[in-house]
Parts: sequence; C-alpha cells; structure tokens
Amino acid sequence: MTQLEKAVILITGASGGFGQELTRQLLEYGSRLILSDLSEAALLKQAQTIQQQVTTGEIIACIACDLSDLQGCQTLYDQVKALNISVDILINNAGIGLFGRMDEVPPDKWEQLMQVNLLAPMRLSTLFVADMITRRKGHIVNISSLAGWAALEGMAHYAASKYGLRGFSEGLYSEVKTYNVQVTAVYPFFSRTPILQSQRYGTLGSIYQDYPLSMATDPAQVMRQTLKGVINNQLHVFPDITAKWIQFLKRYFPDLLDWLRERLDKKLKKR
Ligand code: NAP
Repeated sequence: MTQLEKAVILITGASGGFGQELTRQLLEYGSRLILSDLSEAALLKQAQTIQQQVTTGEIIACIACDLSDLQGCQTLYDQVKALNISVDILINNAGIGLFGRMDEVPPDKWEQLMQVNLLAPMRLSTLFVADMITRRKGHIVNISSLAGWAALEGMAHYAASKYGLRGFSEGLYSEVKTYNVQVTAVYPFFSRTPILQSQRYGTLGSIYQDYPLSMATDPAQVMRQTLKGVINNQLHVFPDITAKWIQFLKRYFPDLLDWLRERLDKKLKKR
C-alpha cells in the first residue's frame, strides 16, 4: 500500500484539469504537495483557491518550469532538491495534445509533444528514482492515456507518446520493484479538461467534429480511481469504464475493437 497522508507529492501539469483534481483530492488525503506547471501565476491562483476549499494537507511550494527540454526537467529537480524535502511520489501528469494527419502536423509541434509527454516523464523519473532507490521508498505515477493502448485516426503522435510511456512504466516497474519503489501507469479515456481543445491541423483537423462532451468522463471521478490504484500499488490503472472495456477488447478481441474504432471515426467526421 502507498500511504498518501503526509506523503510529499510532486505533481507536474498541476494547473490543468487533472492536475487541479489531483491537488484537491490529495489535500483531502492530507498529502504535502509541490505543484509545478508552466505559469507561476496560474499555480499560485489555483493553490489559493483550492486551499480556501480544502483545509487538510499542505501546499509546500509552487514551481514554474517548462518541461519541454532536458534543462527544464533538471531545473525542476534542482528546485525541489533545494527545498530539502524528499519526494515520496512523483506524478508525471503534464501533457499536451494535438490532432491531425501525421504529415500535416508541423514537425516542431509533434516533437514538442514527444518532449513533454514522453521525454519529460522519463527524465524526471530518472532524476527522482535515484533518490527513491537510495531511500528504498517511493512511487512514480505516469499519466499515460487509453491512447497508449489504442490509436485513433489523427492521434498518431499522441498515441506514440502514450504507448511509449506505457512501455517505459512497465520497464521501470521491473527495474525498481526490488528497491521498494512502485510504478503506476494510468490510462484514462477522454475526460472533460482543456486538453480536448488542443490544436487541430490539416485535412483531418477540418473534417472531424469537436469531441462530443457527452462521451467524455468526469475528471474528478477519473482522478479518484487513479488515486485508489496508486494506494493499491497497481502497475496499470484503467480509471473509467470505457478504458476498462477498451483494454479488454484490445487484449482478447482486437478485430472487434478495430471495427468499433472505424465506426467511431465515421461518427466523428463532419457530414
Ligand atoms: P490539461 O488541462 O491541458 O493539463 C495539462 C497541463 O500540462 C497544463 O496545465 C499545461 O500547462 C501543462 N503543460 C503543457 N506543456 C507543458 C510544458 N512544456 N511544461 C510544463 N507543463 C506543461 O489536460 P489534462 O487532461 O489535465 O492532462 C493531464 C494529463 O492527462 C496529460 O498527460 C494528458 O495527456 C493525460 N490525459 C488526458 C486525457 C483527457 O481526455 N483529458 C485523457 C487521457 C490522458 P498550460 O495549460 O499552461 O499549457
């Protein structure tokens, strides 16, 4: 079991939809949080608002960092180390989305996506896990996506980053479990957060409709299930019913899943 009460937890992407829910729910558990995101102003405003609503737990620090390169990840690690507090749990949650056919997305955009969604969690895990191994205690949580199990049209880059994060999590799990360090990868279906309004490009960007919000999940519920999985030291967490079903189909009925995916693609295309 991973204890959340009084645990020191670093959350990246803390100002985003899932990040705010993680902040709120972890404070309710009594955790001690270090929040990180791109904008310090947004972090401080969010911290103030949530702390007015939740009186348990503690926000130790808000650290603004751009995680889209090695230097940004190193800076975050150095700033956390300067606090002189050991991180018990690292939640790699920061991420970006984009939508479009592989060749119609500007290369700098999808390369940045790979940096933030895949390389940043790998870099931060590498930095923090060394301390966790020394302490024989810690937990790395990677927010992947259901796109780490099944790739939809227009999401090749995003899926590549999230499949990568799944593979990294599985490998890391095997490497650090003997040191009492846990790894959890989380695979949510579409959820109602700002990422659903990500940039769209080219042909596919113009023929697909906005994602129907009625099909998207409640981020509060998704993060509640995520934290249950973390407490139970689960390697793979499917935090909503769609995610559970799709990974089941992917494993046992992949042809049926392909058929359903084609039907969903058709439904989402503008007539
Ligand atoms: P979100 O609201 O857009 O949050 C993402 C956060 O990451 C934002 O606060 C964003 O900051 C931050 N971020 C982006 N680029 C960054 C960078 N270079 N350095 C540091 N932080 C950066 O989206 P979300 O849904 O909460 O996403 C959280 C995680 O869940 C992501 O990894 C996403 O891929 C994953 N996920 C989401 C869904 C979904 O449907 N919501 C489903 C499956 C998985 P700014 O807002 O300032 O850009």
